[in-house]
Amino acid sequence: MAKKKSTGAQEYQFKAEMKQLLHLIVHSLYTHPEIFLRELISNASDALNKVRFRMLTDKEVLDADADLNITIEVDKDKQTFSIEDTGIGMTKDELMERIGSVASSGTLEFVEKLKTANETSVGDLIGRFGVGFYSVFMVTDEVTVETRAADKDSVGCRWKSSGEGTYTIEEIDRKTRGTKISFALKDDFKHYSEEYGVKNIIQKYSNFVDFPIFVGKEKINTVTALWQKPKDEQSEEELTEFYKFISNDFNPPLGHLYLNLEGVVSFKALVFIPETAPPQLFTREVFEKSLHLYSNKVFIQSDCQELLPDYLRFATGVVDTADLPLNVSREVTQNSPVMTKIRNVLTSKILGFLEDWSKNEPTKFEKFMKNFGPLFKTGLNSDFANKDKIVELLRFESTRIEKDSVTSLKEYVARMSEDQKEIYYLTGESRQQLERNPNLEYFKKHDLEVLLLSDPVDIFVLPSLQEYDKKPLTSIEKADIDLKESKDEKTESLNEDLAKSLLSVFKETLGDQVADVIESKRLVDSAATLVVGKDGLDPQMERMMKMMNQEYAGAKKILEINTAHPLIKNLSRLNMGSSTDPLLRSCILQIYEGAALVEGNLTSPTEFVSRMTEIMTTATK
Ligand code: ADP
Repeated sequence: MAKKKSTGAQEYQFKAEMKQLLHLIVHSLYTHPEIFLRELISNASDALNKVRFRMLTDKEVLDADADLNITIEVDKDKQTFSIEDTGIGMTKDELMERIGSVASSGTLEFVEKLKTANETSVGDLIGRFGVGFYSVFMVTDEVTVETRAADKDSVGCRWKSSGEGTYTIEEIDRKTRGTKISFALKDDFKHYSEEYGVKNIIQKYSNFVDFPIFVGKEKINTVTALWQKPKDEQSEEELTEFYKFISNDFNPPLGHLYLNLEGVVSFKALVFIPETAPPQLFTREVFEKSLHLYSNKVFIQSDCQELLPDYLRFATGVVDTADLPLNVSREVTQNSPVMTKIRNVLTSKILGFLEDWSKNEPTKFEKFMKNFGPLFKTGLNSDFANKDKIVELLRFESTRIEKDSVTSLKEYVARMSEDQKEIYYLTGESRQQLERNPNLEYFKKHDLEVLLLSDPVDIFVLPSLQEYDKKPLTSIEKADIDLKESKDEKTESLNEDLAKSLLSVFKETLGDQVADVIESKRLVDSAATLVVGKDGLDPQMERMMKMMNQEYAGAKKILEINTAHPLIKNLSRLNMGSSTDPLLRSCILQIYEGAALVEGNLTSPTEFVSRMTEIMTTATK
């Protein structure tokens, strides 16, 4: 696969998907060209962090006494740019592995997704994903990477590519540890070869880099970790820039939380909540930007998943603790009781912070729930210790609440009348569909509030909820729900004998399509509805199961009929004439399928329509 070039350099092919990614980057990031600076500085800073971490336990590294810093050189006349670090460097294999190919399978999925996104959102998506090194191809036609790994016997390497399918690697005589990346700027981007401009851009976030950055001879950052400053010295602007720097987000965060704790465990933390969910938030595998761990200002690990439970992984920021021994391996860090303590405190603080928002910052809280609610709710299934706090933060739509507004369970319970013993809910695909469900009629008539749950996650978290404030949560689609009838409703209905006789014709006609046919107490305006038997699943859950498994038939439903409805009364009259009347039979089938249609479960629309035509023909004779 490698071809020998005349210079002694070997030529290699980029993987196919690399080409796609490069193409996308060059053509969609043009609105944010300065990203390349941030990415290169961030890579240099990572490399310096890595070598500093290694030197904690290994004194045998190359250039052990070298200063840890980043140097940027520009030349306005030659239109060139270079950035050099004294970090960990790369071996030839590492160069090929890391710079020449797409590492994670998540990246590939991401590239697929990008192809279908529209042009403006692509820039945002790519930025949030962290394109890294390849962003340099926005501003240049050819890049040179010269690097030497931190081992004493390492060999220097030069990597060169125009980002168009191939790259070359050759061995070079490089004396010092670290990496230098250099290139000539395309004409459109020549301003990045002017010291003044470059300084201005970098200054925005250079103070968040742990190492001195030089542009030419001048050191341009002060290197004080923002989270080490007292709270009142952290300016809004600095916080926003810091957030953008660590999250790759172009927008300011929705809010942040600063912690400076001493006690069972001591740590400082800056935790941000983004305004919108990054594209990779719901695909765990590619989620990389969460909390960075520092030990006494020394960087230990990025994306430290042990610091937060999964359902809070929308939060991003840094945690700095002096309670971890510096020279421990990452594996030990991961299993350390200190980490567990920090995680518990952080979890409780973040929940407290959200609770505060729910009371004092309703707009922010609503935004948060809209974007992160589905993820946050899964905490009910995993974080039993904090279940009560999570429950209080849940918000639902409801029949008593205006469209697009939400209610908490606490507010719902406060509105309950004394004789209401249960919290009612209905699940479905959308509020609009839910509002048309005939099972709501009884509740509307009796002014009973019903929660309208249309988030697909709801049906997975409801089983963990069971009850709130000692009041069971009950689906109004269950057949055994306890509904009281008032006297006047009774008098309008068919008498017992007529009802019994009609029910048996229904049962006979529908056969094993239904589990049973019973008289309904819940219907007011509709003639019939399908409900779930005692042991049946929530209908929404059943629909999901059917989507996942075509074979899954689901449990049979119970058909409830409204014996006060004029249609049912008319059918009773036909039944008294002859129980085998063909019109009676057609109407029964039509009523059953109509109820299935309302639920979104009608399997035979053609028969349904032809039977309807038949009935209308008879009716208009
Ligand atoms: P990311 O930084 O998101 O991993 P990049 O494409 O920017 O993606 O970089 C890929 C990898 O190349 C890095 O993870 C790192 O291992 C290596 N790398 C990039 N720049 C440097 C550098 N200056 N020094 C050492 N390694 C580097």
